[in-house]
Amino acid sequence: MEPLFSPALYRQRHQFVIDFVKRNKPRKVVDLGCGECSLLKWLRFHREIEHLVGVDVNGTRVKKNMLGLAPLSAEYLQPSYHQLCVELYQGSVTQKDARLRGFDLVTSIELIEHLTLADVQRFSEVVFGYMTPVAVIVSTPNFEFNPLLPGLISRFRHSDHKFEWTRAEFRSWAQKVCLDFGYEVELTGVGQAPSGQQERVGFCSQIGVFHRLGAKDGSNVLFADDADDVSSYTLLYSVNYPSLRDNNILQRVLLSEVLCWAEKLKSRWIQEETGERDDKEGGGAACLSQQHRETEKRQTVCGAEMKSPVEQCWRAASEYEQEEVPGTNGQEQKVSATQHRCVSVPLAELWSCSPKISTLSGSLSNLRCLLMNNPRVKLSQDGWAVLVDYQDQDHEEEGCDDLEHSDYAQASHFSHSAELEDDWEADV
Ligand code: SAH
Repeated sequence: MEPLFSPALYRQRHQFVIDFVKRNKPRKVVDLGCGECSLLKWLRFHREIEHLVGVDVNGTRVKKNMLGLAPLSAEYLQPSYHQLCVELYQGSVTQKDARLRGFDLVTSIELIEHLTLADVQRFSEVVFGYMTPVAVIVSTPNFEFNPLLPGLISRFRHSDHKFEWTRAEFRSWAQKVCLDFGYEVELTGVGQAPSGQQERVGFCSQIGVFHRLGAKDGSNVLFADDADDVSSYTLLYSVNYPSLRDNNILQRVLLSEVLCWAEKLKSRWIQEETGERDDKEGGGAACLSQQHRETEKRQTVCGAEMKSPVEQCWRAASEYEQEEVPGTNGQEQKVSATQHRCVSVPLAELWSCSPKISTLSGSLSNLRCLLMNNPRVKLSQDGWAVLVDYQDQDHEEEGCDDLEHSDYAQASHFSHSAELEDDWEADV
């Protein structure tokens, strides 16, 4: 049988939310009745969102899907400045939980029809009266569309549906919510009827987009006192995504970039000294020739008599030689020049070669400060150059920057699995 909707209807509902997020840029979003977490898996890629929460009464369903919300390995290897905390709770939308107050957006996609009418009233009080988010998106089946659904043999689209509203019934509930709790609503939907029938039957899924009155001019709602400070939901999953705003992560990423570029420059200098360098490399090559033009500058960093980078290394090595390090027998011992022949790579060179290093550190002196406190990097005595072992040339020259974010590739994987799991009855 030909699918009735393309894209699939559940996908159109989720896309409706994603488009809203793109336009309105909410920072804190909660999806009520999150089920298999498929909407959350899409939302997590929207950089404006910093706190993403899912709630469902069915904890088993959430647990089965929650690991799909873990950060991807690329996000650990190449973290961005984006901050994101994801939390999943088991709980009922008919009960209050103070952790869900003050959100920018609450979504309730194909949830309310699973509640009794008495519970819909509780849902309204909890969501609009207690959580008081800036915006709420509610979607629910439009009963008037049902005669157009092929193969629908029962009255409702799913055996667990307690009701399915006509457009008038949905409008009347939505208007009452607005009056009771101070919201305004726009009624719309997704899943177009065949041509000529749209006006008569409306959308397959009807959607109400609610905005809290006064929220635009910044007036905030006052929460009631501590008596309302309840936590009735059970936390099932919580994860903080790696972010460059975390100083430890920033240090780690910066260090690996610095070491990678230092090795790259070292091997090129050495190849130049020994006349072995061929010109097939990209990236650092332009940077390197600039370096040659700037030999004078390096001399002022490391010593007036220095003429080439390799000589400069010898000087750096002899500075290093003065240091005392613990010996294997626990006693201090002098490091010999032959053991620690180093190449000295000025921070200024690293700074000009790698945009990532300059962006991450902000300024050259900041870069120096960040590296000085890091035991994994050896600096020259004045702290303005990184010392790299001369001998150790096994490091990969390429690859400082070759890991690309593949968020959307992963997202389409998740979306694909969601598509496979959905059946017609459950997700129309
Ligand atoms: N929003 C999801 C799933 C819709 S199916 C989607 O768009 O794909 C409805 C979901 O609501 C189910 O996962 C069900 O477990 C959940 N649900 C039903 N009653 C609930 C309640 N009282 N509180 C929270 N979630 C509930």
